[in-house]
Amino acid sequence: MAKEKKANVLSNAYGASMEKIVSLAKRRGFVYPSSEIYGGLAATWDYGPLGVALKNNIQNIWWREMIRMNDNIVGLDAAIMMHPKTWEASGHVENFTDPLVDCKKCKTRFREDKLDPQAIADKKCPECGGELTEPRQFNLMFTTHLGPVQDHGSVVYLRPETAQGIFVNFKNVVDTSRVNIPFGIAQVGKAFRNEITTKNFIFRTCEFEQMEMQFFVKPGTEDEWFETWKTKRMDYYYNKLGILPENLRFHQHGEDELAHYAKDAYDVEYQYPFGWEEQEGIHSRTDFDLSRHGEFCGKEINYLDPQDNSRYIPYVIETSAGLTRSVLVCLMDAYEEQDLGEDSRGNKDIRTVLHLHPNVAPITVAVLPLVKKDGLAELAKDIEMELREDYETFYDKSGAIGRRYRRMDEIGTPFCVTIDYDTKESKDQTITLRFRDSMEQVRIPRSDLAARIKLEIKNYTRQA
Ligand code: ATP
Repeated sequence: MAKEKKANVLSNAYGASMEKIVSLAKRRGFVYPSSEIYGGLAATWDYGPLGVALKNNIQNIWWREMIRMNDNIVGLDAAIMMHPKTWEASGHVENFTDPLVDCKKCKTRFREDKLDPQAIADKKCPECGGELTEPRQFNLMFTTHLGPVQDHGSVVYLRPETAQGIFVNFKNVVDTSRVNIPFGIAQVGKAFRNEITTKNFIFRTCEFEQMEMQFFVKPGTEDEWFETWKTKRMDYYYNKLGILPENLRFHQHGEDELAHYAKDAYDVEYQYPFGWEEQEGIHSRTDFDLSRHGEFCGKEINYLDPQDNSRYIPYVIETSAGLTRSVLVCLMDAYEEQDLGEDSRGNKDIRTVLHLHPNVAPITVAVLPLVKKDGLAELAKDIEMELREDYETFYDKSGAIGRRYRRMDEIGTPFCVTIDYDTKESKDQTITLRFRDSMEQVRIPRSDLAARIKLEIKNYTRQA
């Protein structure tokens, strides 16, 4: 196998600063500051052509793993605005608050629960040492008005999580789908929280997307299902999104973190440059949600088990992941700068590469004619059109081939196909298939290409 150069890793995801990721995301069209022509809006971001492709790929894998790969999980897409009673029943009106403290000197606002315990004990601002105010409880739900009259009665909330849409539709799904407990309902959608501190790029924003699944089980079986879902969800991060195992861990909620109704809760945490932070919550929620909605709507929400004719309020195991936060995890984890020694002019040769799993990479295959003339461009286009049936492709005919490879490395394209004179002249039209991670190249007949890429994706393991 031919190989371009030997790589020494300079900086990986963990060592990469957030500025580098933000800059790459902007430069290559993953994520832009929102309404930038007007100076932007604090902590709001738009997903560009590559960003939306990455986000859609993550969402599609999640959906596939939930809905297609499980007989007993069905999908749902509930409205963002729900009856205000939903949020009384769920406890959000009363309890969905963060303790807010302000610095009297520099006016910076903090979430008290995220401050260093020493700073709280001293009541000193970590930014400037100024005095901090007493904490005030601040509700994170955004309100708006439904209808033309803005009175108290028209207030509705933008949902702060997608889960409640699932609970209020439990009965509808049972009555209209052929599901029996244990079964799950999965949903992906926008959620809104008026976060006090939005920082770290798309990690914490006021408008974001969640991928949530509520799994309804018979009381008494919840511990078993909790373990099953913990295993399945971690496996998804390792094997479907290709996140490095050393950057993932479980964090079990302690007594002080656990909601009063919850039996157990684990977070899947990712190791960011700014520390370990939650990526997904896996919660054993008892019958709290369905019981509360039953109480507030005035009719118990229960389930008649056809197996033994018993009637009960199901228990819930919830898996609640951030979609937009997953985009950040994929980008950070994939990022690497490599020292490739010297280039042909004697300059330091640094390669920036995103080791994105082929499942999530915005472009799977780039097709590159070595030169434009002598019919190579047309032949390359023809090969690209053929691959388009199965893969997200990109055709690029301009610039030195090495530079074109690097442009693809930087956006995480796992495979490049190069078309040269041998392709045109050889009987079986051999092409060069180049692998992003290893920079190795193999020469194979055109007819083997689509199947070879399929196999490479199936067997993909990340190489430094
Ligand atoms: P945190 O402690 O980080 O505020 P949380 O415990 O409030 O998170 P959950 O309510 O469990 O989060 O939400 C489930 C998932 O939704 C989180 O694991 C995270 O991936 C995502 N999420 C929550 N809030 C935000 C936000 N403001 N911006 C982006 N993603 C978010």
